[in-house]
Formats: sequence, C-alpha cells, structure tokens
Amino acid sequence: MSIVMKPGATKDEISAVIGKIKSAGLKADVSSGEYQTVIGIIGDEKKVDFDQVKSMGGVFDAIRIQVPYRLISRSYIPEDVVVRVGKIAIGRDNPPAYIAGPCSIESYEQLYRIGRAVKDAGAHILRGGAFKPRTSIHSFQGLGLEGLEHLESVGKDLHMPTVTEIRSEVDVELVTKHTDVLQIGARNMFNQDLIEAAAKTGKPIFFKRGFSAQIDEYLSFAERIVANGNRNVLLCERGIMPLGGSFKSQTRFTLDLNAVPVLRKETPFPVIADPSHGTGRRDLVLPMSRAAIASGAHGLMIEVHDRPQEALSDGAQAVLPQDLKKIIKVSDLIFKTIRESDSPFSGDIKNGTGRA
Ligand code: PEP
Ligand code: MN
Repeated sequence: MSIVMKPGATKDEISAVIGKIKSAGLKADVSSGEYQTVIGIIGDEKKVDFDQVKSMGGVFDAIRIQVPYRLISRSYIPEDVVVRVGKIAIGRDNPPAYIAGPCSIESYEQLYRIGRAVKDAGAHILRGGAFKPRTSIHSFQGLGLEGLEHLESVGKDLHMPTVTEIRSEVDVELVTKHTDVLQIGARNMFNQDLIEAAAKTGKPIFFKRGFSAQIDEYLSFAERIVANGNRNVLLCERGIMPLGGSFKSQTRFTLDLNAVPVLRKETPFPVIADPSHGTGRRDLVLPMSRAAIASGAHGLMIEVHDRPQEALSDGAQAVLPQDLKKIIKVSDLIFKTIRESDSPFSGDIKNGTGRA
C-alpha cells in the first residue's frame, strides 16, 4: 500500500499514519517530496485496514500496489529517480553514464594508467575490483585492502568517482571508506544480509542482476535497498545463463536486453548495462553497447585493459582504451538520436493495463 498525503498535511497527521502502521507491528518508508509526503509499508500490509487509513486526516489517497516489489515500483515512485555520483547525474533523461576500468586492480601503476586512459576516452566513473568473486580458488582473488587503497588514490589523483565490489558483509565498513559506489555482484544478488548492510551506508549501490535471477526476484532483492532507507539504487543487467545449462552458447552469458525496457517500465531507478560480462568477448562489446543504449540503458559498465593478454582476470572481454573511446562516441550519438526522434523508451509508454 502506498499512502499519499495531501499537499498541506500536518506533521501530526503524517505521524498519525506512521503510528497506525507501527502499531500493526510494521515499518514505514516515508518520502517527503517538495509538495507531498508518500508513505509506504514494509511488512505484511494486510495487517493495516485499508479503508481506515484512507479516511484518516490528511490522507489524500491509499493505493494498493499489485507487484511484490512495492517500494521500488513505479506505482510507489512514479517519477524517474536520478542517482548522483559525485558530479555525475545518472538516470531519467541524463546522457549515458560510462563506468570503465579493469576487472581487477593489479597495482597502483596499472590502475592509474588505465584510469587515465578511460578518463581521456570519456568515462565518468572508474571501476576496479579488489575483492574478486572467482569460481576457482586457484584464480587471482584480488588485492583486497591494498587494491582499495590504490582505487582511492587513483580516483583522487584523476578526480574520478570510483566503484568496487563488496563481496562480504564483513567488509562493509572497510570498502565504504575507500570508494564512492558499492557494487553488489551477480553472485551475491540473493545475499540479503550483504544487501541490507551495504544499503545502510547510504552510498549508491550498483546492484547487478544474478545470472539466473528472474526480474521479479531481482527487483524484490533491490527493494531491500530502498526498504533500508537508501534510494541510490543503480540496477545493472550483466547477462543471464539459461537454467539447466545444457545450452551451448558462443558467449559467456546472454546479455538480456529485454530486461532494460522491462526494468525501466517496472521501476523508476536507472538501469546500466554491462556488455563485458554479458558477452565475455571483446569483439562483441561494441555492438552490444550500441544495442544497450538503443534499448534504453542509462549507462554502460565496460571492462578496459591496455594489456589485456596480461590481465589477471577477464582479459578476454577487456577492450582497449581506444575501443572505449569509439564505444562512448557511438553510444552518445545513439542516445541523442533517440532523444531527438520522439520515440520514447518503452518505460515511458503506458502499457494499457492501467499501471504507469
Ligand atoms: C565484475 O564486475 O567484475 C564482476 C565480477 O561482475 P559480475 O558480478 O556481474 O560477474
Ligand atoms: Mn570482471
């Protein structure tokens, strides 16, 4: 249920509604806009009498939300959300945001070299992994704290905001100290303790879709970020793998570009595409970047290495800095063409079912 207060609702009227929710043993999510306050319910909302709430003082309307991921749905937050990372505004009608850098941080020098190159190519945010999620224990696991220190120094030296993956709840404080955006990776999409701990820092959360997650499941876990008081959510489609796994593919994963307009329709939060992990192949990153922007992605995450053959992880999908420059150039052109063509993304088109 979403309770929309009248524009002139008093503090006491708002408190009474919150009190009503709390007295049913539930939590309230309160968002105070410039004109209106909207209150969401966290928990089993059947415990709150819908008609009673509707008739309370200062209440303009109470709306039942039909989807399970209530607090992240368009019915609860109708307007596109803009997430700010440093000076970069991501989402709504802002130009695409480009997040780029190596898969793993290997040394200060490596990160600085690549960071400088991606900045020159037009990237806005520097990425680099310090705690790497790896299938094999024999693979490079990341530099850990040393990597985080390099990320922070290079980010400062290049005046670029940074993003890095947080793999465990235990590291929340540590990782938060060294980076601007916390990434929750595909393998941790279902890790509710990690999601909640990361959300509570208030930092933007770069939340990747699990490779076998349905969109409903993905959004339900993303909702936990909002339910913990953090609306700085960046969604990321990074490729899926068919369940069962007998399907032999030419690519590491299948970048699910259907998900981009579906997510834009279902939620107001920015959607980023990751064609690097989504394909696993350097030669496919450019075409799938173009397609992702054409499908309505608000930005791209791209793995870049200047010596991909020497990369300690994901070398096969790393593009060269000069490739990134081409990707950014054509992506900006595609974005501009779509914006000027008056052919809105499907997220902006009503689907006729009555849900915005
Ligand atoms: C990454 O961004 O380096 C990464 C490991 O991503 P994912 O969680 O999507 O595999
Ligand atoms: Mn990677």
